[in-house]
Amino acid sequence: MSWLRRDKKGLKGKSRAERREIPDGLWVKCQSCGEILYRQELEKNLWVCSGCRFHFRVGAHEYLDFMLDEGTFEERHSGLTSLDPLKFKADRTSYSDQLQRAKTKSSLEDAVICGFGLINGQPVSVAVMDFAFMGGSMGSVVGEKIARAIRDSLETRRPLIIVCSSGGARMQESILSLMQMAKTSALLGRMRERGIPFISLLTHPTTGGVTASFAMLGDVILAEPRALIGFAGRRVIKSTINSDLPDDFQLAEFLVEHGMVDRVVARHDLRKVLSHVLRFCTASNMEFLDNGERKSEDDTTTTALFDGRIVTADEDPVDVEPIQDDASA
Ligand SMILES: [Zn+2]
Repeated sequence: MSWLRRDKKGLKGKSRAERREIPDGLWVKCQSCGEILYRQELEKNLWVCSGCRFHFRVGAHEYLDFMLDEGTFEERHSGLTSLDPLKFKADRTSYSDQLQRAKTKSSLEDAVICGFGLINGQPVSVAVMDFAFMGGSMGSVVGEKIARAIRDSLETRRPLIIVCSSGGARMQESILSLMQMAKTSALLGRMRERGIPFISLLTHPTTGGVTASFAMLGDVILAEPRALIGFAGRRVIKSTINSDLPDDFQLAEFLVEHGMVDRVVARHDLRKVLSHVLRFCTASNMEFLDNGERKSEDDTTTTALFDGRIVTADEDPVDVEPIQDDASA
């Protein structure tokens, strides 16, 4: 045995190749059930395991494809990149080098893409985060691009959709990254004043400063199945409150049960649900009864907001299972 060489395997996690977002190769192993899946089939199935419905983590471009009508995405505010004002260095690597490496590895400028697009013909302003770029961390560029997407919504009255995926604030930018929480939240306050809807979609994982700001400020908050959503990590909470936590703690389904998230939406239903919510939120001539139902009798969608949850009239308000797609969709 040597004092200097580590003979046993350490506590290090999986290798970089094992952690890669979208795996290479013809066959892909499901991280949840272990099923070997044919990559082409998996792609066709929106990166959802056909065996256990596990949702693989995908990048921003994939979400744009899942949500928007084909060929309607128009990117805005590209060309912004982070500086290194603090000359931050950790583990002998400078932040500038880390940024450069992340850009090369992910082919992205930073951890968010924003722009305009259509969902079933309805115009929207979108911002989609990408975990592949430094864990989707929110630095000054992410904050600024989110802020600009919100301003686009305010100027054009397009509803806003933000797809969140983040490990939290980017520590390499210190206070400059933390102030993005206040900046984005303040702008969302203006959206509220002007009655422009904001839909937040939380994907795996949405944590830290992003959860503590825009992610949880949606008028409607949707989440992907089994997505981890929280501010602090499980271990920190467990040691703080000194008690055991349930297995599904901080998972999307747990958050729906506790009123923090409105609905869990499978990827296949995403466009349909978004379109449905948008139509509901943007109908200007709607009149509502005291119980939250629509007044008009000839209306066939008869959607209602009940305790902040969206349901169709023939559903039990407590049941938030499938929104029925109407023929006009
Ligand atoms: Zn599976």
